[in-house]
Amino acid sequence: MTKPLTKSLALERLTALAQRFKVPVPRLEWSQRARYGQYILSETTALNPVTQNPVPLTRIRLGANLTTGSENALLHEFAHHVAYTRHGWLRGKKAHGALYTEILIDVVQAWYGDLAKYPWHREYKQVYDYVRSQARRAA
Ligand SMILES: [Zn+2]
Repeated sequence: MTKPLTKSLALERLTALAQRFKVPVPRLEWSQRARYGQYILSETTALNPVTQNPVPLTRIRLGANLTTGSENALLHEFAHHVAYTRHGWLRGKKAHGALYTEILIDVVQAWYGDLAKYPWHREYKQVYDYVRSQARRAA
């Protein structure tokens, strides 16, 4: 069991993860009503300071009352942020495909130091099946 996060604690953890994965610190929206974490691509854009190209703004939405547990939701949504930063927006089935799942595995490993501490059985089936197939290959 993980204890519920507060917004400032969540931001602290996202900042630490962002440094570790060398990505910008994601914007965080905190909602007491949210039941699930979300990674949201917004309609608004910001200018990339280097290229001056408009890039869509994204944000992670979390709260203290998530059914999946705030800490694991934070790791799941942060992995979306890394995937978006590296590969752009992954649509449809690709959102939780192999590219995403490899990143989530790295994030969970970095965070817990032990893949077994993450509740993979509560993940999307696509993610769970991928992780199981990788585990079989390693065995
Ligand atoms: Zn997701």
